Amino acid sequence: MKDLTSQFLELVRLTATSLPPDVENAIKKAYKVEEEGSAAKGALDTILKNVEMARENSTPICQDTGTPLFYVQYPEGWSTRKLRTQIREAVAQATKNSYLRPNAVDSLTGKNTGDNLGDDHYPTIHFEEVEGDTLTVELMLKGGGCENVGAQYKLPNAKFNAGRDLDGVRKVVLDAVNEAQGKGCAPGILGVAIGGDRGSSYLASKEALLRSMEDKNDDPDLAKLEEDIYEQANELGIGPMGFGGKTTVLGVKAKSTHRLPASFFVSVSYMCWAYRRRKMTVQGDTVIYG
Ligand code: SF4
Repeated sequence: MKDLTSQFLELVRLTATSLPPDVENAIKKAYKVEEEGSAAKGALDTILKNVEMARENSTPICQDTGTPLFYVQYPEGWSTRKLRTQIREAVAQATKNSYLRPNAVDSLTGKNTGDNLGDDHYPTIHFEEVEGDTLTVELMLKGGGCENVGAQYKLPNAKFNAGRDLDGVRKVVLDAVNEAQGKGCAPGILGVAIGGDRGSSYLASKEALLRSMEDKNDDPDLAKLEEDIYEQANELGIGPMGFGGKTTVLGVKAKSTHRLPASFFVSVSYMCWAYRRRKMTVQGDTVIYG
């Protein structure tokens, strides 16, 4: 198995410094619909200029470079132990090169490790063996401010008159957006998971965020839910950074997962406008970044 440390380093650099085109396009579209001279338009203008400068200078898009979450799909026979070692080395190198801010802090002592390497959960690396001979690695950098406004609900929920159905899901997701206000650095992108247990539900809500901004849910019921939440969240008037305006969310991505009859969880992972996620695929000697 070859050493891919330098390729993983490039994946981290690209993710931290160059916003994916689908996200940038969504921000540009939002910029067009905001009122001329409004604080919302001004905020989006600043965001877009910042995105351009970060890409040109290969500097982080935001000072909080977030929690690194890797999703690795590897062919049979590859060593996950070696992949983990190489990914961790790339993360430490990326921190040295200032693509990442040192963010890994011991929860008990508050001491920063200085290189973004904590225990086995930091950075988080999910492994899945797949058929074929292609290695795919996706990286998401999840900011702390937006992670703080994520939420989990248990249906039914009397406070919102939310039952165990898609309308109940809609009601609680809108509550999460309303509670966040501008704190998660709106406009946000919502990863919504319906079902699972508490842990798997939150995991699924982050996986939903790996989808393209431009795709449509294969399930017509979930597609409608995504559209309804998108429209109604943008009627809340919270706006970019909470300044008011027409753009509170840029997109909604939902998925459902099996659950126990006794439980009905809805998990919302809120992603800020700095929706940094990139992918690399390796096949033989060919490495492609997207
Ligand atoms: S929530 Fe996102 S945009 Fe806001 S400070 Fe954190 S990483 Fe940056």
